[in-house]
Amino acid sequence: KRMGRNGYHFFQPSMNTLAQTHLQLMNDLWLAIDRDELRLHYQPKFHAPAGPILGFEALLRWEHPKQGLLTPDVFLQLAEKTGLIIPIGNWVINEACRQLREWHMQGHSAWSMAVNLSTLQFEQPTLVQTVLDCLARHNLPAESLILEVTETTAMHNPEESVRILTELTNAGVKASIDDFGTGYSSLLYLKQLPACELKIDRAFVKDLSGESDDATIVSAIVALAKTLNLKVVAEGVETEAQQQFLTELGCNTLQGYLLGRPVTAQTVEELCNNLEAMKNPLPS
Ligand code: C2E
Ligand code: MG
Ligand code: MG
Ligand code: MG
Repeated sequence: KRMGRNGYHFFQPSMNTLAQTHLQLMNDLWLAIDRDELRLHYQPKFHAPAGPILGFEALLRWEHPKQGLLTPDVFLQLAEKTGLIIPIGNWVINEACRQLREWHMQGHSAWSMAVNLSTLQFEQPTLVQTVLDCLARHNLPAESLILEVTETTAMHNPEESVRILTELTNAGVKASIDDFGTGYSSLLYLKQLPACELKIDRAFVKDLSGESDDATIVSAIVALAKTLNLKVVAEGVETEAQQQFLTELGCNTLQGYLLGRPVTAQTVEELCNNLEAMKNPLPS
């Protein structure tokens, strides 16, 4: 204001370095798609307790030219606030489908691909068409795609969520309720949501033991899921004790660092080739 009316002034580092870093990151994010800096890592989902692999979850990474490989906690909120999550999310859906098609062609035709959606993305009127176009473009059966929406997203506008998910599942696409247990589900709407699975949030897996309240909560979620005819996935499985306990409690699918970290597509393929090599040793 001191500098007169109608004047625009860019932030100087001396004013507020934090805001400046924020602006810089926002600027960089605008360019990230065009500069081909977005990456997907893939984390396997295992049939409990230890396999086979049912499919993968695509997890977004940003290879920032100066800051290196960034995880979503650094830039997802920014992408959501600026609306950039829409083009970024479209890139993710397309790239995940392209990769899955490649793996299907390599013989892993039973694998599914899970893609995470933000609230803004989920509530876009164009979402269903975008997803169906993408499946058609890559010649994929709709059944091989799982869309993960958090419980919070699903309950943001429950009636709308029921409508969107009904449209998607009518077309054959599957839906998964992510981070389950951290939001506030209305059982009335949960009952109507045409999802195929509940993903128990990592928070309930972390301190899981015979004596913890978390075991009771996991059992309750498993019972609820059975009633609603949903599968139960546990995320964040890091120890063998958790793996065994979650299986005993009735979780169908396990995901976590113990069984497989998120890795590049190339690493997925190398690991598979090594497993194949072990199964079919060269004749000596
Ligand atoms: P999420 O969908 O609940 O994914 C699970 C997160 O936990 C991932 O973090 C994963 O790397 C991490 N994780 C997996 N196993 C373990 C484990 O055993 N221990 C621990 N400590 N962590 C584990 P990541 O990749 O940083 O993603 C964080 C969140 O960002 C995701 O949570 C998801 O909500 C969001 N996200 C990721 N990719 C996308 C995307 O393409 N689009 C949108 N809209 N959101 C995304
Ligand atoms: Mg997820
Ligand atoms: Mg989750
Ligand atoms: Mg999460």
